[in-house]
Amino acid sequence: MLSEIDEQLQTPLSDEPTEGRGILFVVSSPSGGGKGTLIQRVLNKVSTLSYSVSFTTRAPRNGEVNGREYFFVTTERFQEMVAADEFLEWAHVHGKLYGTARRQVVHEITEGRDIILEVDVQGAASVRMLLADSVSIFILPPSFEVLRQRLEARGTDSPEELDLRLRNAPVELKDYSAFQYVIINDDAERAADQMTAIIQAERARLSRQGSRVKRVVEAFTASETPDASTGQTVERSSGSSN
Ligand code: 5GP
Repeated sequence: MLSEIDEQLQTPLSDEPTEGRGILFVVSSPSGGGKGTLIQRVLNKVSTLSYSVSFTTRAPRNGEVNGREYFFVTTERFQEMVAADEFLEWAHVHGKLYGTARRQVVHEITEGRDIILEVDVQGAASVRMLLADSVSIFILPPSFEVLRQRLEARGTDSPEELDLRLRNAPVELKDYSAFQYVIINDDAERAADQMTAIIQAERARLSRQGSRVKRVVEAFTASETPDASTGQTVERSSGSSN
């Protein structure tokens, strides 16, 4: 059966539904898990990878720019977008609303470009249901203490917000086993390398590039060269000798 997103993409059902389409990478972690910095490093390293800018009703933090970290909107505007079905997924997180714009995601993956979504664990579960071949990555802070230190050092949350985020963290962590990959973020550079490796490995999956591979292999068969000494086509036998 076609998933909701398949219908939007208007692609025919096939055995290799992802081929030619961009890959959707879904990244989650508790607040303060370091995923923002990590994703930024990965975007700098990996070409043809875009980032889905979410909509939120929370206020911008110092240094955040509308349209870069988030689109900051009022609750009324957010509800209008929900009513107009403009979100691929949306959720209440830490008392505010957050949502992924359907249009940007569909546009990127239809054009064959890979895209990263940064969503909470509820958003990740929704996306998994919508698009079974999305790739989910959980960023695990190395310890609760490190998480607390990161949130405090950020200095952007009120004491109440900080407390709420710290209380929610253990609940969010429990969902780690629903993800395909887990990166322990104890070292930003190593963690970014690991995420880059995951993206590159997913890109190399046969199921995502079957026809391209087939074309290359077929070109080899078409240009099979005869053995110079015998004039016969070289044949390989299978066996255990090599
Ligand atoms: P923050 O306010 O710290 O930027 O984000 C709070 C939480 O909201 C984080 O867990 C973040 O991943 C999540 N979040 C950000 N954008 C979205 C979104 O579009 N959808 C959902 N479900 N969660 C989001």
